[in-house]
Amino acid sequence: RAKENGRNGFNFYEPAMSAGAAERLRMEHELRGALARDEMLLHYQPQVALSDCSLRGVEALCRWQHPRLGLVAPDQFIPVAEDSGLIGELTAWVLEQACRQLILWDRAGFRIPRLAVNLPMREIERTDLVNRVRRTLERTGLTPDRLELEVTESMIMRRLDLAVTTLDALRALGVILALDDFGTGHSSLAHLKRLPLNRLKMDRSFVERLGKDRDDEAIARAVIALGRSLGLGVIAEGIETRTQHDFLRDEFCDEGQGYLYGRPLAAAAFLESWSVMEGGMHLSADRTAEAP
Ligand code: C2E
Ligand code: MG
Ligand code: MG
Ligand code: MG
Repeated sequence: RAKENGRNGFNFYEPAMSAGAAERLRMEHELRGALARDEMLLHYQPQVALSDCSLRGVEALCRWQHPRLGLVAPDQFIPVAEDSGLIGELTAWVLEQACRQLILWDRAGFRIPRLAVNLPMREIERTDLVNRVRRTLERTGLTPDRLELEVTESMIMRRLDLAVTTLDALRALGVILALDDFGTGHSSLAHLKRLPLNRLKMDRSFVERLGKDRDDEAIARAVIALGRSLGLGVIAEGIETRTQHDFLRDEFCDEGQGYLYGRPLAAAAFLESWSVMEGGMHLSADRTAEAP
């Protein structure tokens, strides 16, 4: 126990535990029963084609409806789940729940081509991941070509050979693989070449200042060009303004995700806001003003 926590940078024998560490320990304890208590939920955020704003996919994003803290963001509890060994159970739940939701929407006549789910750091190192994904697809009836798994560079680079083996097996299963937050990690291009990826997700830190910062514009162009020359689709995250959208569309970035098209919403609200937009949403210049 002490060893396990030592890995997280906590030390049980430290006399003055910081408030942050105490809170984290409390959260770990509470997280243990959260799934059983039905406190986890998923929000869905649209991914659109930049050419016509048609709906191409959704990313499932986990939330924790905490009795004391309210709605807790994943940045707060995913690291805790990873360090405490709860992440496997949580990931299984997210995957199953999201696949089921897509099938429910299919049955309601609201067909979303693709579902993206985030794979946490630790899962890629588990040998049973591929079988678990396969069984979830079989159970829910979602075909593999509609499931996209998002991994991050830091996750892969930590144990490259193992990651390549796992990702190869996932590709063989027929699922789509995306590299999330691309550009923020430290993968070399040589490593990138070894990975069986289908898509790059350009990190929102490069998107933020498009139209204002020449360097970020150059980086965005380079990421799009890299994706194209490696045969990968490119999606930009964190698009909040019409300026960013126009820049990326004009540079032939394939898809976009961000508040401009929609914030992450619970399933019912997502259906309500998107089912009416046949053939893609209409982007007025005004929508930019709505984004914070
Ligand atoms: P991510 O996978 O890069 O997800 C995108 C994050 O950017 C989401 O934050 C989303 O709400 C936010 N975002 C989207 N559009 C915009 C925008 O226009 N502007 C800004 N400022 N932000 C935008 P969220 O939902 O808080 O998730 C944060 C991170 O937590 C995710 O980053 C992902 O790494 C992780 N995460 C979320 N759900 C899960 C999950 O079910 N499992 C695992 N392992 N990780 C998850
Ligand atoms: Mg993601
Ligand atoms: Mg991301
Ligand atoms: Mg991110």
